[in-house]
Amino acid sequence: MTDQGLVSSQLGSLHYEPALESSSLARLKPSYGLFIDGSFSDPGQHENLVTLNPATGETLATVAQGSVDDVDRAVKAARRAYENVWGKMSGAQRSKYLFRIARIIQERARELAVVETLDNGKPIRESRDIDIPLAAAYFFYYAGWADKLEHAGFGPDPQPVGVAGQIIPWNFPLLMAAWKLAPALAAGNTCVLKPAETTPLSALILAEILQQAGLPEGVVNIVTGDGSTGSALVEHPGVDKIAFTGSTDVGRLIQQRVASTPKRLTLELGGKGANIVFEDAPIDEMIEGIIDGIFFNQGHVCCAGSRLLVQESVAEEVLRRLVRRVEQLRVGDPLDKNTDVGAINSAEQLSRIEELVAVGEGEGATRYSSSCALPSKGFWFAPTVFSNVAQSHRIARDEIFGPVLSVLTFRTPEEVVAKANNTKYGLACGVWSEKGSRTLWVAERLRAGVIWANTYNRFDPTSPFGGMRESGFGREGGRHGLEAYLNV
Ligand code: NAD
Ligand code: MN
Repeated sequence: MTDQGLVSSQLGSLHYEPALESSSLARLKPSYGLFIDGSFSDPGQHENLVTLNPATGETLATVAQGSVDDVDRAVKAARRAYENVWGKMSGAQRSKYLFRIARIIQERARELAVVETLDNGKPIRESRDIDIPLAAAYFFYYAGWADKLEHAGFGPDPQPVGVAGQIIPWNFPLLMAAWKLAPALAAGNTCVLKPAETTPLSALILAEILQQAGLPEGVVNIVTGDGSTGSALVEHPGVDKIAFTGSTDVGRLIQQRVASTPKRLTLELGGKGANIVFEDAPIDEMIEGIIDGIFFNQGHVCCAGSRLLVQESVAEEVLRRLVRRVEQLRVGDPLDKNTDVGAINSAEQLSRIEELVAVGEGEGATRYSSSCALPSKGFWFAPTVFSNVAQSHRIARDEIFGPVLSVLTFRTPEEVVAKANNTKYGLACGVWSEKGSRTLWVAERLRAGVIWANTYNRFDPTSPFGGMRESGFGREGGRHGLEAYLNV
């Protein structure tokens, strides 16, 4: 029997009963309008977009496709709120609203987790334990800064920028909304937020929360729609600052559009993170770290550790244990509390993943995919590991943004630094070693915004996050995250 066959037959006896979270907790409405100037418009006034549950392909709700006029109304509402209310309010008053928003997110956490899992396809374990608590944590953290801006290191009396246009992706819908809104509001700006077209629902629940918190009208406006809605926001002359998270291609386009204007810009784009494993790393923790690094959120993570660089002396053992662990991952219904890997967010994303994986096979890398059964409806991809990957392969260079790991090897610290830095991106890396001096030596030489040591994909509101080169510029999180929203 092959190694792999042996593993699956042993695991066949490990049976988990389903432990489903109830989808009715989401309390979704059939349709949602736009949230502008403190209230929701009638969805019937707009063209509609449909958002699906990617785990089933079924429609969850229809949302408005924001037009150029809708964006204009939202930006004007934000301008009025900035000039008349929010920009004049004391930091201490602003902080009260932010604390209130954070607390209501916590109160409605279970509902938000179910909404996020339904709309995005991510496992409920992740939305419940990571996305939603972290979203609340970012509001709590920046609530604390609102009345202390003069101590943030940006001069004695830093001023807000004005109206911020914020465009976010579908991989962490509520968390990205929190990363954008919390620092902007703490610093005294008002906002127009454009969620991603496949995952608009948690932002619309957040709009209800803002109403519940009594946030003054127009301080935050949420305009759903596709790329054309985002583009209208970028082009609007009444916007002082654009913050974008998404693909490098769209980021590049936005940078061109903004270049001839006084608008300020921050971009958080793609990545091809190197997760570097030295022979002395504690193997059990490291295997879990590799798994988390690439299979967390189906690999739909800009800072994913999608390139594993493993020291040659342990490469065989690491690969064997990795494959065994991948075979144990439970793939399936995202609402099941036992699920490790959920659905791919959209048909488009699935075909991008399939295309790059086919390229990897064509280039001669060795593919292993989990033998797990995949649901018949919805969008799914089995967790996959490629070995014998060369630096020149596209699967070693291009962002796949899916549950696919490329494994490369190295011999010396000098070689691994060169290989890790051989990328157009520069968002995140991980280093695994028992020896602190070596970890620091490597970390100092890696060109990436975030370096994790003996861990991966760890997020905290107090620490800045962001990239260099084609991963973008600007920092979100921490004291540094305020800078993007202050005239310093
Ligand atoms: P995308 O960049 O097209 O979408 C991100 C956001 O930008 C969405 O809200 C979208 O509506 C909006 N948008 C699209 N075109 C726009 C335009 N011209 N002007 C303004 N806003 C616009 O990303 P995608 O198509 O969903 O994903 C494509 C690839 O991007 C993925 O495969 C992945 O590699 C990468 N990606 C990275 C991140 C990240 O966190 N850095 C997130 C999502 C996707
Ligand atoms: Mn959806």
